[in-house]
Amino acid sequence: MNYLIDRFGRKITYIRFSVTSRCNFNCMYCVSHIDEGKKTEEFTKDDMAFLFRTVSELGIEKVRITGGEPLLRKDIIDIVRSASINENINEIVLTTNGSLLRQFAQPLKDVGLTRVNISLDTLRREVFEEITQRDFFENVMDGVSASINAGLTPLKINTVLMKGINEEDVIPIAELSLKYPVVVRFIELMPVGNNGFWKDHYMSFTEALDIIKSKYELNVGKGAKGEVADYYEIVGSEGKIGFITPVSQHFCDTCNRIRITAMGKIYPCLFSNESIDIWDAVKLQDSDELIKLIEQSVKIKPAAHGVIKKDDKQFIKNMKELGG
Ligand code: SAM
Ligand code: SF4
Repeated sequence: MNYLIDRFGRKITYIRFSVTSRCNFNCMYCVSHIDEGKKTEEFTKDDMAFLFRTVSELGIEKVRITGGEPLLRKDIIDIVRSASINENINEIVLTTNGSLLRQFAQPLKDVGLTRVNISLDTLRREVFEEITQRDFFENVMDGVSASINAGLTPLKINTVLMKGINEEDVIPIAELSLKYPVVVRFIELMPVGNNGFWKDHYMSFTEALDIIKSKYELNVGKGAKGEVADYYEIVGSEGKIGFITPVSQHFCDTCNRIRITAMGKIYPCLFSNESIDIWDAVKLQDSDELIKLIEQSVKIKPAAHGVIKKDDKQFIKNMKELGG
């Protein structure tokens, strides 16, 4: 097999696929730069089936379905099924805001979804509304239960740390791992859309860790191979607590992923300005051309993104298009 190996010897086995840039939430940290006149057409499920087949032939083992909100795709069941039928793809994970999971959890499990990550930044309903601009807190909590019941486990909860907004939630969210077999992952806020929000609300993982340690004794735990988080366990807990630290300690050395957007661009890094356009190759189902373009995107994968500083100009333009 022709594996994808970049200039720095990193083997690329993981694709993050943003299947739509549309979303039913409007999270305060996920603002997106809207490019007037930009193509908004998305790949169809048949395009995606072709894409999954091709990347599977290139040694891709893990697919993350993200967005925007992936469950807004009416054909999401077919999309997941078309990924799962490929021989090499052995892990398909969905990242979702959870609001539509109650209806989708079981059907997704039935067509081969491995597990879900649900984004949940607070357990306080009014703060949830402030962060997401939507009154869907109960729907998300229902989605959490539905996913556990469907066996989409280990369930991971993603919580973006925001100083002045959800510090009070750090302990209650960490405590979910005490009561349930879930993995809670606190994510450092990344700069999106150059709007000043990041400068005002960035909080390092050490601050969250100190908050948890002020109440609980923690054991250092283990993540699965290739995981980007550092893990801890509250003594006696069912689940785990992880920290994803793209800002304070980036994990570029072991990065094994590329990102594909629903509008046909491959981004070799979340912070890349450079992308490779695969729209036509996918639409024409031209696998030779597509393989050439994917290999090209791996060749331009940078060694690392720079250290993000408060006075930097480095920011992510469109999180919904890139999928986080
Ligand atoms: N809509 C889905 C969701 O919210 O899970 C999937 C797409 S969302 C872009 C993917 C992940 O990116 C979510 O866990 C979200 O919290 C995270 N995210 C979005 N903006 C972020 C930011 N500025 N910093 C850190 N994480 C961010
Ligand atoms: Fe939508 Fe997810 Fe972005 Fe929130 S984080 S606006 S749910 S894409």
